[in-house]
Amino acid sequence: MTTFKDLGLSPDIQQALDELGYEDPTPIQEQAIPELLAGHDVIGQAQTGTGKTAAFGLPLLQYLDPANQEVQAIVMTPTRELCIQVTQALRTYAEHLDIEIVAVFGGAPIRSQQSQLRSGAHVVVATVGRMMDLMSRRSLVLTSARYVVLDEADEMLDLGFIDDVEKILRMCPSGRQTALFSATMPPPIQKLAEGYMYEPTTISITPKALTVDAIAQAFVEVPANEKTARLVELLKTEEPEQAIIFTRTKIGASKLEKTLKDKGLDVKALHGDLSQGVRDGVMIAFKDHRVRLLVATDIAARGLDIEHVTHVINFDVPNSSETYVHRIGRTGRVGRTGRAITFVTPAQRDEITRIERDVKTTIGEWEAPEERLEHAPPPRRRERSERREKVEQATPASSGAPPPEPDTNGVPSPAPSQPDSRPAIEPEDHDGEPARDSVKLFVNRGERSGIDEDDLRWALREGAVLPEESIYDVRVLHRFSFVEVAPDQAERAVEFLDGTKLKGKEIRLEIAKS
Ligand code: AMP
Repeated sequence: MTTFKDLGLSPDIQQALDELGYEDPTPIQEQAIPELLAGHDVIGQAQTGTGKTAAFGLPLLQYLDPANQEVQAIVMTPTRELCIQVTQALRTYAEHLDIEIVAVFGGAPIRSQQSQLRSGAHVVVATVGRMMDLMSRRSLVLTSARYVVLDEADEMLDLGFIDDVEKILRMCPSGRQTALFSATMPPPIQKLAEGYMYEPTTISITPKALTVDAIAQAFVEVPANEKTARLVELLKTEEPEQAIIFTRTKIGASKLEKTLKDKGLDVKALHGDLSQGVRDGVMIAFKDHRVRLLVATDIAARGLDIEHVTHVINFDVPNSSETYVHRIGRTGRVGRTGRAITFVTPAQRDEITRIERDVKTTIGEWEAPEERLEHAPPPRRRERSERREKVEQATPASSGAPPPEPDTNGVPSPAPSQPDSRPAIEPEDHDGEPARDSVKLFVNRGERSGIDEDDLRWALREGAVLPEESIYDVRVLHRFSFVEVAPDQAERAVEFLDGTKLKGKEIRLEIAKS
């Protein structure tokens, strides 16, 4: 068994790891650390929870010369949350080193970040946009940044930052060492690696088995209007030390937070409508165990590393199997077991079957702890086939749940301003009332530019990361298009897509005047 000592780390770094209670390196650390210490470029295919931050962070710290006051290393991250998290991790690993690590990210005053950079930074951990901004203001100079890390590169691609990442890489010295970490390797990331890395060693850690195996998974079938009451009951029975409860929408998250708070529970929400300061405060409070329950949306929780979460509760069923794995990976972290419980309405039962198939796992019906003891091991095979039968019998009309998602090609495109003209799926609403408002966005491109409905839906989903059900309508006309989205998603769509390229054409998005 390899130890941290065998990997060639300095005594100061080893001491910090001892103090943190890290006993042995994780597989990604075992493989990546010697390569990086030897000066090689590394592609690490690994997601949060595998110990990837230390895998790139420890060699980075060892590489630095404390006497040199220039920025010698940079870490690029897709989100502010990840930026803060990586900074905190690096600071703990650098406990016994004389190293300054500065975090720069959007949504916080640029002046204070400029002054921190002026006071000296050996390492800068940054979100891509803010890094570009600081470089253009000449507050950040990368001429000595010879150790470069791209963390969660696929997320940067999803969020549309890849062109900026390339620009930044071009500003770094050509003899640099580059480490790229990504959970998946889509073609644009492979191309980036080919263009900007030198003979990289690829290290691949299979995350699914790692995350899912250590997690006990169950589902709870419950009608939509009883979900909140059932959640309260379940929290009483399960008594989680700390839980993250996932909802699909920001409105859903804040409503649920309020309801749980009214019931006297110790809960905070984390979603994109909160200011950056509030989000950071919530994160810190949760990490410090000052808050027991966190209600979060997928986007707000992206890439977050939260330790000791005993439970993940999918209050709203995740919209894909990838999201499921991502969500439940918050529990059962390195060497710990956790529980993941997914709520489904009767009409959503086949979602569980789909996840089981995709993730190659078994999700049994939830049982209270005493029943669990009586029934161990649970009769999983039968449960699954019975459930399938029920799925086939259940019709949306008889269950009272929303009808299945319409095929986008089959949906007529009625005038978006008529309230009843929207596709049947509404953003999930936890008290049974449908959300009524929508916001119309104007897009400066249409058929003439070779853009069709699928392209725009793709851009909204993948580029702006809007949940499918918040995209109410897309109408492509000859010279321009209209998109109708949930009100809480409109600004995000504009922020992420305005000025980006779709099929090689620059698109402009704005909130329609009427
Ligand atoms: P990461 O994948 O970098 O987000 O790390 C996931 C979690 O594992 C973090 O809470 C780390 O503190 C923890 N961790 C990383 N490496 C080790 C290790 N070798 N032993 C124990 N815990 C670790």
